[in-house]
Amino acid sequence: MTGVGQAAETHRSAIVVDGHNDLPWRLRSEFGSRFDRFDLALRHQDGHTDIPRLREGGVDAQFFAAFVPSLYAGRGAARQALEQIDLIKQMVARYPDFAHARTADDVRRIAAAGKIAALIAVEGGHAIESSLEVLRHFAQLGARYLTLTHMANTDWADAATDQPRHGGLTGFGESVVREMNRLGMLVDISHVSADTMSDVLRVSEAPVIASHSNARAINDHARNVPDAILRQVAESGGVVMVNFFPGFIVPEAAEAVRDLLAVERELRARYGEDEAALEEAAREWWSEHPIPRGDVGHVVDHIDHIVQVAGVDHVGLGSDFDGIPEVPEGLEDVSKFPAVTDELQRRGYSDEDLAKILGGNILRVMSEAEEVARRLKPRLPAR
Ligand SMILES: [Zn+2]
Repeated sequence: MTGVGQAAETHRSAIVVDGHNDLPWRLRSEFGSRFDRFDLALRHQDGHTDIPRLREGGVDAQFFAAFVPSLYAGRGAARQALEQIDLIKQMVARYPDFAHARTADDVRRIAAAGKIAALIAVEGGHAIESSLEVLRHFAQLGARYLTLTHMANTDWADAATDQPRHGGLTGFGESVVREMNRLGMLVDISHVSADTMSDVLRVSEAPVIASHSNARAINDHARNVPDAILRQVAESGGVVMVNFFPGFIVPEAAEAVRDLLAVERELRARYGEDEAALEEAAREWWSEHPIPRGDVGHVVDHIDHIVQVAGVDHVGLGSDFDGIPEVPEGLEDVSKFPAVTDELQRRGYSDEDLAKILGGNILRVMSEAEEVARRLKPRLPAR
């Protein structure tokens, strides 16, 4: 038996890495990308993320998403991603609490120096505009993973929440995965269909990640990962990082959030590219369509399940804070990560296992992907 004090100690001493946070999109859509309108140095009551709360949550490294809604496919999607990558870099330049990390070793060094490692991710494969050249530029700017789709299919990969169009990855989709391996960029299977997941796992030479997804056996939503895929992710050496969204954690909530793409399309039809109005309308929509919130126990149920099916080396945290319209009780924002550690310890996880789940696993996966990239480097870039 261990006390709360020890869980706190374990949490502080671990390198805590969160796989997915949508703060850049929130800054962009609600505050015109202006830090004078949402100063991250201050503690806020609204939103899920600022520096004081990251510190309180013991967060050592955060993947920040350059998120591109599916609507922008073919309509300046790359620009949407580039402007948010720039915003993440502006954030790092402005606030000395952050340092930009590109590698697992960067994260370890930055964490040891007492700063928060900011990692860049691109969410939505349409952001590469079907160009490996654009993909290579994202990698060069520091993007460490690409989520292959968002809610809708791309021209080369099927999404979980859309009608299947390609039956998984197209030939070009496969070349995207191979090029990401060569670049040392992680392939993120969150948001993609099960067929796309299978294709990625067949093609990828590097470990595969799900940056913010849960176990479908517990919550039967298409966004979640089936057991067979969990096993294959483990075989690839990868990691599934659990999302905190009540709709994806609480079993009874799956049905209520079944058709997220239809909701998005309905709101888009009304508000188009007026992102601020759309965010406001989305908040209203969710308040009119309440779902059970769940709590930290529901999140840890998913971790338990992934540990049982895939093993303790293949699970991590991918909260999706600032990208989710509802939060579980006790996990209201980034300051609450220690509650997960508490619950895991209460369920009997050792300190060694906790260190893996909290961040060790994704750091191992990053190192392995970097190693694969070094091995593949002599090959010529794909066309
Ligand atoms: Zn997402």
